[in-house]
Amino acid sequence: MNDNFYSSKKWCALITALKLERAKDGIVYCEHCGKPIEHNYDIIAHHIIQLTATNVKDANIALNPNNIMLVHHRCHNLIHGRIGYVKPVVYIVYGAPCSGKSTYVQSQLHEGDLLIDIDRLWWAVSGLDMYAKPGRLTTNVMGLYNKLIDDVRMRNGKWQCCYIVGGFKNKIQRERLTDKLGAKLIFIDTPKAECLYRLEHCRDGRSKADWRRYIDEWFAFNGG
Ligand SMILES: [Zn+2]
Ligand SMILES: [Zn+2]
Repeated sequence: MNDNFYSSKKWCALITALKLERAKDGIVYCEHCGKPIEHNYDIIAHHIIQLTATNVKDANIALNPNNIMLVHHRCHNLIHGRIGYVKPVVYIVYGAPCSGKSTYVQSQLHEGDLLIDIDRLWWAVSGLDMYAKPGRLTTNVMGLYNKLIDDVRMRNGKWQCCYIVGGFKNKIQRERLTDKLGAKLIFIDTPKAECLYRLEHCRDGRSKADWRRYIDEWFAFNGG
């Protein structure tokens, strides 16, 4: 429905401006619970009058600061659950390898949410350790992944909230998926040095050399 809206320049510029404008001493306070929002990526812009296929083109609604609340991610889900919004919310959580995407999503996830994390799909069908990804299963894993993405696009199922977790290092592909799914983008903006540090200290059996390369590649695509 809201084709291109959440990745549009106008929307992104407006949200950046609102964050600056509404911050006190550099801190944005949640307009739902009143508490500070610690991480930039935890700030969700919520439309009070919900966007529809028609009013998304109406700047008085879609881009009106009075219709936009800056809230915690968890508060956003509360608002949507409580007021009985019927439209499910879809988040694409992206960022470099080892940036903390999964940890963040785990802290937000509720029972009944749909989680699409390709690492977990590999794990589910290989019977091996997490991060062992035998190339012979690529077609099958991608088939599962695409089926789930299609479910999200069609809003199949009874979930109210979906998280799609991945590196999504390519900006164009990332924005195309966001538009296709009518999703909100959440960027886990952990600096490269921190990602590398976490990799060095993680003990989950993944190949450090491979993952160092993935981190390098991600930042080569996204600057930094
Ligand atoms: Zn809050
Ligand atoms: Zn909302």
